[in-house]
Amino acid sequence: MDPVGVAAAPDAGPGPAWQSKCPWGAPNTTSISCSLADVMSEQLAKELQLEEENAAFPEVVAVAEGPFITGENIDTSSDLMLAQMLQMEFDREYDAQLRREEKKINGDSKVSISFENYRKVHPYDSDSSEDEVDWQDTRHDPYRADKPTTTPRKGFIGKGKDITTKHDEVVCGRKNTARMENFAPEFQVGDGIGMDLKLSNQVFNALKQHAYSEERRSARLHEKKEHSTAEKAVDPKTRLLLYKMVNAGMLETITGCISTGKESVVFHAYGGKSATEDKVIPPECAIKVFKTTLNEFKNRDKYIKDDYRFKDRFSKLNPRKIIRMWAEKEMHNLTRMQNAGIPCPQVVILKKHVLVMSFIGQDQVPAPKLKDVTLSSEDMKKAYYQILNMMQQLYKECNLVHADLSEYNMLWHDGKVWLIDVSQSVEPTHPHGLEFLFRDCRNVSQFFQKGGVAEALNERELFNAVSGLNITADNEVDFQEEIEALEKMNEDHVQNHGKKLSMFSSDGDPPIYDE
Ligand code: ADP
Ligand code: MN
Repeated sequence: MDPVGVAAAPDAGPGPAWQSKCPWGAPNTTSISCSLADVMSEQLAKELQLEEENAAFPEVVAVAEGPFITGENIDTSSDLMLAQMLQMEFDREYDAQLRREEKKINGDSKVSISFENYRKVHPYDSDSSEDEVDWQDTRHDPYRADKPTTTPRKGFIGKGKDITTKHDEVVCGRKNTARMENFAPEFQVGDGIGMDLKLSNQVFNALKQHAYSEERRSARLHEKKEHSTAEKAVDPKTRLLLYKMVNAGMLETITGCISTGKESVVFHAYGGKSATEDKVIPPECAIKVFKTTLNEFKNRDKYIKDDYRFKDRFSKLNPRKIIRMWAEKEMHNLTRMQNAGIPCPQVVILKKHVLVMSFIGQDQVPAPKLKDVTLSSEDMKKAYYQILNMMQQLYKECNLVHADLSEYNMLWHDGKVWLIDVSQSVEPTHPHGLEFLFRDCRNVSQFFQKGGVAEALNERELFNAVSGLNITADNEVDFQEEIEALEKMNEDHVQNHGKKLSMFSSDGDPPIYDE
């Protein structure tokens, strides 16, 4: 296994089209004006990064680390995404402060007020059930003194000599100062309102303009947060990781979310430039983010716990690291497949729980899953034989069982089937490896039998054809029993002799079963 060979290996595999030349031109550099909030968030980003670096533990794999992301070569000055990410971080900080103030104000009081409406980020998983008093109501206190008198429509008040028009400097100045109250509450107006401060129209208008644009910006961010699945799917640290990739130029833009599953979220991105000559970043990438919400992974324990490749490490790891191992596993497995020439995404880089690979599809449109595509009977037959072939290759050359193979994890692209989603794939000697293989076979043969491929083997025939085993049971129950007996035999052997049976030869060689 060569964990460093994760990027484009030019002559390995089926030679995807993107290896030639990037059809997308140079990135158009958009310069953005920097607001105070952005400047402040930059500091925050540095803090976050420091914190992260301090907490760093040795990376589990030696993936191409250097050229892409290091603490030093991050140019934080000119990147829209960076600014947005940082802004979000800032917003969160801001909200935390707001909550602290809220708590301070409310104290033990039975009646409490909430600043909920003034938060930048409305928590989608808010569990706050506090009574809410609308701040708007208390803001415009009807008993408040010194309310400026409004100028009537005619444009002047008073009579004769005492007439004052709406252009009167003093009145206007006071009025302008008072009107600052109407700015959004997060807009700092200082003590001006309480003092006899007179703001000129010019200054007031400038302030107003600024306040409104800040407000709109905040609203836009809000909206983005609410509507983008991406926001809901990844935590701030993951976003930081993603924007680092963009900022390092490895990715050009992350365009959106392709899929949100229970265990992962997949984004589409346009590839950027590689820092080294020999590596080519595909023009389009898929970013698979393994979710760090741990609960979903509980049911996966059985895959990884029993995988001897990870055995020694499993017990020592905390859940966060286990999730990184899923990403790591997917990377290793994809690399094995790539080396065997099986059509599958090519690994670009692995960073913690984020795996970047080539995108199967075009122009942001992912290739359809086999379950969603209607193939001609000819293509269907072609697909079947291709899959039979791939399953054999996977088993014999990659020493892997997919373990989640079905029409959901096969994409139809470029007139052929591509295998994806191999984080749970295991070696055949995994204590449940053969059961997983049998399940895969059942999915595949059922799909193609239903799809009208007369030649499709039944699941037992397929199992034997893939594994090279010769289980003769002619019904499913017996067949499965034999599979489990084989697995147990292997396990017992491991228990007694500390290594796999010779028929399961290790070190990446295909297992050879003798009767
Ligand atoms: P999971 O099923 O565990 O959520 P998958 O790896 O199957 O994760 O990815 C989910 C979906 O994202 C896939 O069904 C596919 O539509 C899309 N997808 C994943 N990887 C790629 C890729 N490299 N290219 C195109 N689409 C992809
Ligand atoms: Mn899947």
